[in-house]
Amino acid sequence: MIIKQFLDLIERIGEFETDKMKLYLRDRCSLDEMVFITTDSRKIKKNSIFIAIKGKNVNGHDYINESFDKGAILSIIEDAGDYNGLCIKVDHVVQFINKMASYLYKQYAGFTIAITGSNGKTTTKEWIKRLLSTFINQESIFANSENMNTEIGLPLCILNDLTTQKKYSVIEMGMSKKGDIEYLVDTYKPDFPVILNIGTAHIGNTGSLDNTFREKVKLMKHHSNDEPFCLNCSDSLLRQYLKKCQKQKPILFGQINDEIEDFSGVFLENYRHYFQGQQFYTSFKLAIRCQGKNEQLENRLNGLFHKGQLLNVCAALAVVSSLGYAVDSLPDLSRVIGSIKDRFEPVFIRNHLFIKDCYNSSLESLRYALELLKKLKEDKKFKKIICVLGSIAETGPFEAEIHEKIGHFLNENRVDNVFLYTKDSGIKQIQKKYKGKVLSFSDVTALSMEIKQRIQTKQNTVFLFKASRSIQLEEVFDHVMDVIN
Ligand code: ADP
Repeated sequence: MIIKQFLDLIERIGEFETDKMKLYLRDRCSLDEMVFITTDSRKIKKNSIFIAIKGKNVNGHDYINESFDKGAILSIIEDAGDYNGLCIKVDHVVQFINKMASYLYKQYAGFTIAITGSNGKTTTKEWIKRLLSTFINQESIFANSENMNTEIGLPLCILNDLTTQKKYSVIEMGMSKKGDIEYLVDTYKPDFPVILNIGTAHIGNTGSLDNTFREKVKLMKHHSNDEPFCLNCSDSLLRQYLKKCQKQKPILFGQINDEIEDFSGVFLENYRHYFQGQQFYTSFKLAIRCQGKNEQLENRLNGLFHKGQLLNVCAALAVVSSLGYAVDSLPDLSRVIGSIKDRFEPVFIRNHLFIKDCYNSSLESLRYALELLKKLKEDKKFKKIICVLGSIAETGPFEAEIHEKIGHFLNENRVDNVFLYTKDSGIKQIQKKYKGKVLSFSDVTALSMEIKQRIQTKQNTVFLFKASRSIQLEEVFDHVMDVIN
């Protein structure tokens, strides 16, 4: 948005007179210039607005002056202090940015689709957005960027990008603890809730899978019977929930065996991976039962997609087709649906396959990844599977149980070796169950050298790099790439 728009917004939500601010800013810049709104002082550039947030580990107020030095023109703050630029002091910064953003949301968002779930939110959001933009102008769709899905990330995206009228907004809503989804839906009521799955992600914060379920279904809090919604009928907790809302007739997605009679939806019948002309493909067959249609869709995607991702494809197609768009008429889905950066991203180096999957980890996503690798090994595409693993975070009292289960999955899926990246010690617990050979590394250089040595052999190997975001395994991956390339 432009500076003037930002000041008008502050005035409209009724808390500040902006005449003096305008005079002050006019001496320094044009009020028609674009502003960039951020909580991260490292990203500050000319004409930025710095939002000072008091976090658990970092207090944004410590970076206000640095932001002004780098070109910020204004800062929103909670604590008064000796700052060398224009500051707007409010009682609660996070509430204030949400108040501003909800004003824009009500005005411009159009019809809103909100996605939550333990796994696959960013991927599904991105694919819904891409599918919609094959039918309507891309400019008329808003989506929060990357995984900016919290009470801080979402308002920042809205303030920066939702400043003109949209036809659709596709919004990912994240949850790491009790109350997160409720806060978001109270502030940004969705028209079309989509719940992907209930898994063990953040279980250390919620205390149980049932509690996670209760939090996720808060997405439906303001939902009325005549509005659409979408659920995964292959997820056991969501399937039970479905019994309670039979009358509302959600649109479903899931595996074909879990299809429920008389319900619309998109269902995965089968899929396979194959290699042709130096490239992997994932081909699949879906049943589309939407808008009175009953069709089969066969298609193929470029690259490797695991079953969880293919269920996301079903979710995205279910949502878009239930909005009345003929998704079955799209001749080539691979033009729309591709891999998302850092999420199960394959990189080929000579005859070896490296999979960069460092954006997130959970028991469920690791299981899908390993099942795919096992198939590749069974099909004799690769001789060896080596997993480079870091911990799954926020598992709390379930840490041992979850990491031991990973040990089982590694055995079941015939993983040859595991390289542990032990920045956090949780991952070491896989050793209680995993029967293969484990090497531990706390040092990136030693790990890179080990991999360099392994790829000298003639045995085609798949290396899966996977850990929770907080482990920053992507930096390790990038380092390994530098060393072996
Ligand atoms: P989220 O936004 O919910 O964290 P992402 O789309 O960013 O999910 O994907 C994060 C990780 O989850 C990746 O490893 C990805 O391969 C995996 N994943 C994506 N969709 C699913 C799914 N439906 N079930 C299990 N894992 C999934």
